[in-house]
Amino acid sequence: MNHIVPPIATSSVLLHTCCAPCSSAIIEALIQHGIRPTLYFYNPNIYPTEEYMRRKSEVIRYAGMMGIDYIDAEYEHEQWLCSIQGREHEPERGKRCLECFRMRLLKTAAYAHTHDYSVFATTLSTSRWKNLQQINTAGEEASQQYNDLYFWGANWRKGGLQERRNELIKEHGFYNQTYCGCEFSMSHNTELK
Ligand code: SF4
Repeated sequence: MNHIVPPIATSSVLLHTCCAPCSSAIIEALIQHGIRPTLYFYNPNIYPTEEYMRRKSEVIRYAGMMGIDYIDAEYEHEQWLCSIQGREHEPERGKRCLECFRMRLLKTAAYAHTHDYSVFATTLSTSRWKNLQQINTAGEEASQQYNDLYFWGANWRKGGLQERRNELIKEHGFYNQTYCGCEFSMSHNTELK
């Protein structure tokens, strides 16, 4: 797990979290490397509300188990729909997804800036169903809005983390969703393991 080295020396990282399965192995590895992340749940893309609440409650459960702080950001689904307007029918990994990542990581960066975090990262990149380059583009763009704020764009699928994620899902019985999150991804019913 040698890639778990932040872009600058720090022991506190704001970690945008999308769900418990994607967050599980990253959080464990960060703690093992002396970094206690604060979780930031900002996922206005998730639809419907029941699904949003279900994913959020699993993140809260895991944060409690690991003894780390958790921040519950707003559920702004109407604003999210505005942000992807005109791209509703794009395929997954297309232009809609880039806008989705941009909105989520811009808000994460803003929170990091106002709360004196120097580094932020996201669990979005753990899913092999998402485009890593799009996520890193959105993260870099967000970090460039502020001086002295770094986006930690590691490949969180490497170093055994993918395998550990699968173990932790089973170990803790996490709810493992069957679609990416928005209403436009529901019909694909993609298994996100
Ligand atoms: S498919 Fe996933 S990443 Fe793409 S717009 Fe929908 S929720 Fe966002």
